[in-house]
Amino acid sequence: MKCVRCKVGDTQVFNSRPEAEGFQVMRRRKCAHCGHRFTTHESTFDPTAQREKRRRQMARYRDRHREEFRERWREQRAVSDAARVLGVDPSQVREAWEEKDRV
Ligand SMILES: [Zn+2]
Repeated sequence: MKCVRCKVGDTQVFNSRPEAEGFQVMRRRKCAHCGHRFTTHESTFDPTAQREKRRRQMARYRDRHREEFRERWREQRAVSDAARVLGVDPSQVREAWEEKDRV
């Protein structure tokens, strides 16, 4: 790997340790040309898993268009709608919502 500072020298790894429960590796590198030290993080890249993850986050509509599924936004919208209908403060609805999850 090239040096990020001088962009000339080749770098050597002088230290490495596992990260993310062994699914990533942190490497300390040193430039042979200018002596600059920097850190890299190595992890696997699985394009199929990435695509699948993106697809699950997309919502499909009847007219076949796809849109990012904004779970959080929908949840907040549901809370504020319920609060308006019940004539209470949104925080009360939020509390009741969280109470439900604890049971
Ligand atoms: Zn360098």
